[in-house]
Amino acid sequence: NREWHLLSRPVGWPKAEDFALVETEVRTPREGQVLVRNKYLSVDPYMRGRMSAAKSYVAPFELGKVMQGGAVGEVVASNAEGFAVGDHVLHFLGWREYAAVDAQNAVKVDPDAAPLSTYLGVLGMTGLTAYAGLLRTASFKEGDSVFVSGAAGAVGSQVGQIAKLKGASRVIGSAGSDEKVKLLVEEYGFDAAFNYKDGPVGEQLREAAPDGVDVYFDNVGGDHLEAAIGSLNQGGRIAVCGMISVYNNTEPAPGPKNLARLIATRGRIEGFLVGDHYDLQQQFVQEVGPWVASGQLKYRETVVEGIENNLEAFLGVLRGDNTGKMIVKL
Ligand code: NDP
Repeated sequence: NREWHLLSRPVGWPKAEDFALVETEVRTPREGQVLVRNKYLSVDPYMRGRMSAAKSYVAPFELGKVMQGGAVGEVVASNAEGFAVGDHVLHFLGWREYAAVDAQNAVKVDPDAAPLSTYLGVLGMTGLTAYAGLLRTASFKEGDSVFVSGAAGAVGSQVGQIAKLKGASRVIGSAGSDEKVKLLVEEYGFDAAFNYKDGPVGEQLREAAPDGVDVYFDNVGGDHLEAAIGSLNQGGRIAVCGMISVYNNTEPAPGPKNLARLIATRGRIEGFLVGDHYDLQQQFVQEVGPWVASGQLKYRETVVEGIENNLEAFLGVLRGDNTGKMIVKL
C-alpha cells in the first residue's frame, strides 16, 4: 500500500517537500471494518485548510500521518456485516491505495447506476454543495439572475446549470481561461461568461449582467465578492461557498470595500457547509440524477492517473488545471 503523508504544514503554496508518498503494509480489517481497494480518489480545495494548524470546522491533518479525503473503491475483504467482497463503497479514507474502513463510515454505491467517479462529483459531495448552496442558502427562485464564480469547476458548473434548469432569468459565470468560458456558454448553456484574468471583475460583471444579479454563488472571494456586491439587486443573496483566491495567502485578505451596499439593497451574505445539508441528499439525487442521466445537466471530470500523482492533482485544483471535478484514478 502506498499512501500520502503530510510532513510539514505548508506556508503559502504547498511544496513537494511538505509531503511524502510512503509505503506501508496493507492492513487486515478489524471487527466491523472492510478492506477497500480504492479506485477513485477526490482532491478538493478544502484540503488546503486541513493542511494548516488553524482551528476550523474539520480537524487539521496530523503531521507524519496519512491524509484523508473522499474515495470510492471495492471491498476486497470484509469483517463487517452487510458488506461483501466485490461491493463498492464511498468513504473518507482517500490519499491511499488500500483503506481499512469502519463499516459505519462506508456507504454502498452502485457501479451500474452511475460511473463510480460521479459519486465523488456530480452526484456526490460537490454536487450536493451546488444544490444546497443555491437552493437553500441562496434561496434561489425562478426568475432570479445568478452569477457564479469558479464556474467551470465541479461545484460552479453545477450551480449554473441547476439555476438554468430551474428557470433562472440569466446565468453568468466566471472562469480562468478562454476555453473554460467557451465551455460555459456553448455547452453548459450559461447566458454569459467571462475570463476573470482579462480585466477587472467588477467591470466584466457589469457588462455581463447589465440588470444586476439576484444571487451570487461565491467560490472565489476577493475581487469576485466585491464585484458581486457591486452588482447586487434589491433583496440579493450571496451564498459563500468557498474563497479559493485566498487559501494560500500568508496574510489575511482585505475585505470587500463596498459592504455598505448591503444596506440599500437589503442584501444578505451567508456562508454554508455542505456537511450541514445531507438531509437534502436524497432529494438532490432524485432531482439531479435524472438530469445527469438524460444529459440535460452536463459535467466534465479531469482525471489524473496513479497514486503517485495524487499530490500534483491536488495542486492542479488550486492552479485551475481542472475542468469539472478533479479525480485521481488508481
Ligand atoms: P473546482 O473544481 O472549482 O476547482 C477549483 C477552481 O478554482 C480551479 O479549477 C480554478 O479554476 C479556480 N481558482 C483557483 N484559484 C483561483 C483564483 N485565485 N481566483 C479564481 N478562481 C480560482 O473546486 P470545487 O468545485 O471542488 O470547489 C469550488 C469552491 O467551493 C472552492 O472554493 C471550495 O473550497 C468550495 N467548497 C465548499 C464547500 C462547502 O461546504 N462550503 C464544499 C465543496 C467545495 P479557474 O481556472 O477558473 O481559475
